[in-house]
Amino acid sequence: MTVARSIADMRAQRARLKQPIGFVPTMGALHAGHLSLVARARAECASTVVSIFVNPLQFGRGEDFDRYPRTLDADVAALENHGVDVVFAPEHDEMYRHGTVTFVEPSTIAAYLEGERRPGHFRGVATVVAKLFNIVAPQRAYFGRKDAQQLAVVERMASDLDMPVEIVGCETVREADGLALSSRNAYLSAEQRAAATHLSAALRAIVEEVRQGRHDARAIIAAARQLLPPLREDYLAIVDPTAFVPVEDIPAATRLLAVGAAFAGSTRLIDNMEVFAPARTLTV
Ligand code: AMP
Repeated sequence: MTVARSIADMRAQRARLKQPIGFVPTMGALHAGHLSLVARARAECASTVVSIFVNPLQFGRGEDFDRYPRTLDADVAALENHGVDVVFAPEHDEMYRHGTVTFVEPSTIAAYLEGERRPGHFRGVATVVAKLFNIVAPQRAYFGRKDAQQLAVVERMASDLDMPVEIVGCETVREADGLALSSRNAYLSAEQRAAATHLSAALRAIVEEVRQGRHDARAIIAAARQLLPPLREDYLAIVDPTAFVPVEDIPAATRLLAVGAAFAGSTRLIDNMEVFAPARTLTV
């Protein structure tokens, strides 16, 4: 395994890789969720590239860019153990050496939920992912469903801009008690860690109600909201998984996502679960 710190070195390494190349973009502080993406890329591609870059463009003012966990040595060791071919770990000035005047701006798909709460976030994500795709030039790129709106934004970007890369969505890896793995879980105190399961519990409650055929989203969410404390709600919603617009009257026989964000102290947790709304049966 080699570690490329410059764009030129990454491109030189890429030239000797067997194709197809599978690519896993990350911000490091790797956990089993990231490593499941790596395992999938390894299983499906001849070579695997992982990037580690804490991208300042996708953090808003007052967010956790400065304190985001950075564990490069441990990450590189874990990736070596997992059979990765190249780690691309550029410094900030390598990625943004001239500043940036050109951005990739996702529009409607970023209007609600994460995009609404974190202005500029998806512009930062889309811009850095486009740059990484141009540098690594993978045939396939692997993203977690944990960040479902991000996955939808990247899928639309690749499709709208005709990028020659297949986007692969991968299942969310969870702790035994339901908490989705996240690098930000490292911020949680023992008490907050115990409370953090309330987000997945609220989403499970939404999924159960939708499965039962209930279709008033507002009532379903109001009931699930009761399960969140001591977490503080940011949002709970039921959305179409490609447009990311909240639905009010749940359509029949449709795949939907229950999505949520909540605070444990100052740590913001996000999660989502898929649900298939049943066909409506006529009552006589
Ligand atoms: P991040 O380092 O947070 O930018 O995440 C890098 C990639 O790992 C993204 O595609 C995430 O969606 C994915 N990821 C993060 N947490 C999980 C998880 N618990 N299960 C599966 N994928 C994840």
